[in-house]
Amino acid sequence: MTLFGRCYCGEIRYEAGGEVRSRVQCHCRECQYISGGSPNVIMAMPADAFHYLAGSPRQFSRSDIDQPVTREFCGTCGTHLLTRSPRLPGLVLVKVGTLDDPSIFQRPDAAIFAIDKQAFHHVQDDVPVFERRKPA
Ligand SMILES: [Zn+2]
Ligand SMILES: [Zn+2]
Repeated sequence: MTLFGRCYCGEIRYEAGGEVRSRVQCHCRECQYISGGSPNVIMAMPADAFHYLAGSPRQFSRSDIDQPVTREFCGTCGTHLLTRSPRLPGLVLVKVGTLDDPSIFQRPDAAIFAIDKQAFHHVQDDVPVFERRKPA
């Protein structure tokens, strides 16, 4: 399966191939900044099958925490496209809202970082909820 996506302004386009490894809804405080306040929805995909087709993203990693993730985003419109985590080598965490067809997400396998969940965040009834990361 190859998925295609882009940033809001269209300067950056990508393809993401291979198997979807997991579908996650993340409630962490960082994701609230990135999403605008809601949980973030991401699909973990193999990094070696992910390619930018047009444009190149800017990157950001915090310097004040251990093992920071690297966020890749459009320098023109600011859309966050994906995250790379040192805890998940070989995977890219693609932001579902940037896919040409976000409906492919269907539903999350897990809701994580519920410790930071806001009262206005919604989790579907049958989705397992974890206080922090999902245990391996
Ligand atoms: Zn853009
Ligand atoms: Zn998060």
